[in-house]
Amino acid sequence: MIEVKELTKIYKSRKSGNCTALDHISFTLPDKGFVFVIGKSGSGKTTLLSLLGGLDTITSGEIIENGRHIDKFGLKEQVYYRNSTIGFIFQDFHLIDELTISENIALALELRGETDKDKIKKALIDTDLAEYENRYPKELSGGQKQRVAIARALVKRPSIILADEPTGNLDSKTTAQILDLLKELSKEKLVVIVSHNLSDAEHYADEIIELSDGKILQHLKRNEDFDARLRVENDTLVIPYGEKLTDENLNTVNSELSNIDIKSVKQDSDRFLPYENTRECESKTESEPLEKKHLKFKHTTNFR
Ligand code: ADP
Ligand code: MG
Repeated sequence: MIEVKELTKIYKSRKSGNCTALDHISFTLPDKGFVFVIGKSGSGKTTLLSLLGGLDTITSGEIIENGRHIDKFGLKEQVYYRNSTIGFIFQDFHLIDELTISENIALALELRGETDKDKIKKALIDTDLAEYENRYPKELSGGQKQRVAIARALVKRPSIILADEPTGNLDSKTTAQILDLLKELSKEKLVVIVSHNLSDAEHYADEIIELSDGKILQHLKRNEDFDARLRVENDTLVIPYGEKLTDENLNTVNSELSNIDIKSVKQDSDRFLPYENTRECESKTESEPLEKKHLKFKHTTNFR
């Protein structure tokens, strides 16, 4: 579990003045699951990830990972934490062009004084890259390169994977493959991903944290009781939020329309619920929260 309390990050600069990238945010993350961090450019997503991963220093507040105070780490502990607990994945892969795929992965282990061919093999197999181990990054597609980056993160057996827009440079089919892989990993680990894509978040996320101007606009949790069936409840025809109107659904609608007992139609909208522990933002921001934007988005795609 990661507890974040009143986390603040101010970038100090003599030239351009101070910039408050994160402003007293508090939330808790579970040991495993797929958490999407969304928000406009400049809202603090990358800053949040780098603080969670011990890549940068905190201005004030606390980050406690399974009882360990990340905010109080010295340099040595911080490096150890990065090398043992965290796996990073970046939009532009960060692979070393002069090294083969398996050498790129091996480097992650060498940085902490290990060589273990079996671990490297396993990471290659887990990411479906076994046949590419002797190739160089430039001989791979974008999706394959991102899988190498995931293998390099996995080989350290981290308990937390932090991915900053890992599909930003990929086409939609490859994006789905990478997100499927990360979703699979999130059954055993905590995977925190920064994304711009609301429908990916809707499809894959267990939790969504929306940032705006360094504050949490909302923190949502997938509703486990969500009923995806189009159904009749008493005198109401319930259309589940975000579901496609299939031929089967249309048949139900049409047959129920001839049923005089139907008095109303409603769209069920509880796919995500507010996360109970989230504190309210201190000041109201002008941004619209996800749900409203999202409903608009869904209406246009659903009934085409
Ligand atoms: P996002 O990833 O959501 O686009 P960032 O976390 O990168 O947002 O940035 C949040 C804010 O902090 C922005 O206003 C950005 O300009 C500022 N910022 C980010 N990194 C630095 C830095 N190293 N120095 C100064 N300001 C920074
Ligand atoms: Mg960013």
